[in-house]
Amino acid sequence: MSETVLHATSVTVPHQLMHVGGEWVDAGAGGRIESVNPTSEEVIGTVPDAGAEDVDAAVAVAREAASGWGRLGWAKRGALLRELARRIEDETEALARLDVRDAGLPLAGMRTDVTGAAATLDYYAGIAPQTGGGTAPASEDTLSYTLRQPYGVVARIVPFNHPFKFAAGKVAAPLAAGNAVVLKPGEQASLSALELARIAAEVLPPGVLNVVTGAGATTGAALVGHPDVHRVAFTGSVPSGRAVLRAAAEGITHVTLELGGKNPLIVFPDVDVPKAAAAAVAGMNIARCTGQSCGSNSRIYVHADIADEFVAALVERVAALRVGDPMLAETQVGPLAFRAHHERVLGHLETARREGATFAYGGSRPPGRGFFVEPAVLTGLDDDMAVVREEIFGPVMSVLTWRDVDDVIRRANDTPFGLTANVWTRDVTAAHRAAAALEAGYVYVNGTGRRPTGTPFGGWKSSGLGKDNGLEELLSYTQEKTVTVTL
Ligand code: NAD
Repeated sequence: MSETVLHATSVTVPHQLMHVGGEWVDAGAGGRIESVNPTSEEVIGTVPDAGAEDVDAAVAVAREAASGWGRLGWAKRGALLRELARRIEDETEALARLDVRDAGLPLAGMRTDVTGAAATLDYYAGIAPQTGGGTAPASEDTLSYTLRQPYGVVARIVPFNHPFKFAAGKVAAPLAAGNAVVLKPGEQASLSALELARIAAEVLPPGVLNVVTGAGATTGAALVGHPDVHRVAFTGSVPSGRAVLRAAAEGITHVTLELGGKNPLIVFPDVDVPKAAAAAVAGMNIARCTGQSCGSNSRIYVHADIADEFVAALVERVAALRVGDPMLAETQVGPLAFRAHHERVLGHLETARREGATFAYGGSRPPGRGFFVEPAVLTGLDDDMAVVREEIFGPVMSVLTWRDVDDVIRRANDTPFGLTANVWTRDVTAAHRAAAALEAGYVYVNGTGRRPTGTPFGGWKSSGLGKDNGLEELLSYTQEKTVTVTL
């Protein structure tokens, strides 16, 4: 890789306070968390580390705002969410640059993240009227109908890997359904969520969208365990998802979980090899978020007849990726988002080396500043190796081979995860049979990791509960009530 050129930018780090009830507030106990630029390793700001009493205050304010917001009706709410989307689009460049600095993700992708979040707000504003109820079978002397009503306060907890996209995109459905939201961004990259709060305060009534910052085990846990929060939506890792589910049991809180993956890509022998290799690199999301993507196709099963050709094509493409300062237009791969994660990914690579993996490309730590790691292509693997089984959440691709289709489907399914899977073949029958047999909530046929707005997304097995991104997500922020009228 070329040497990292640190780019002097004019990005200003904006608000470093939480936004609750239309006001900027600090954590009562005064604790702060540092925001570190993973490219330069410099501290660029700090955010409050909210305690349970700060979470209490945010939930109380949200609860008060929720009834007015819920009664406003879908049409007015939709109009305000569309207005929010326009204002976000107007600030695309500044928001994208803030995420580049805070999370190390390349600029082009962050621009798309911002406009994608605005599109999600438009989408949920558009389908908001579908929160209507229905009628139940009539009897002679009764009429029964159902209403879909908001929960009141929704807690939305998101991770660091798409800071603004998740902050703005993942509040769209609960707000459209008539709930007030308390959003908690990933503590490693919270700054753009605070910018979302600033923009939203110009459009939404106070208290409808509140942003608290802090650590998962304290701030996040206080939100999940709060008696006035009856609906929690969580995006993050499997271990944290388990903790959230356990805590939610206490209050019988409704929970959806969007969790991790170790996603298989099965390459059949009839493919156009360069095209399939390009799709594997795209679907790994190396060139957008350094492989820090839940949907990355990190386990590649390629048919033995084309394995050499495929690995050569894969290595050629990975080697061509431009790693460097994510603020530069030509950069495709930035650093990992924070120090502890960098150490974790390097640890996984060290384990792979110890277990005897062949490094067909990359995997070393480039000299100099920043949490960089060279994208890696590993071969010579067994299904039991840690690098094949565990989610790494970094730019590490494991390539394995197969000969028997039933066997490779069994191997692909032999994991606690079940988020996405991808099948590359020109054989329509083989593609549909594999799609049906794979244990994953989202299957691509000849996919590149691209998911159109509105396609339901969510994991099977340990990868999650419930679906985001479609009508089901919108409805999941409503509770159904049946009314029976005696005639
Ligand atoms: P993480 O679980 O450590 O943290 C995610 C969020 O949850 C953060 O805001 C964190 O503060 C909070 N949190 C942590 N423990 C908590 C607890 N006990 N109670 C309440 N909140 C808590 O995850 P991460 O490392 O930030 O993100 C990477 C993980 O997220 C990966 O496993 C990735 O696959 C997954 N992810 C999944 C999706 C999806 O849609 N399925 C999308 C993005 C990321």
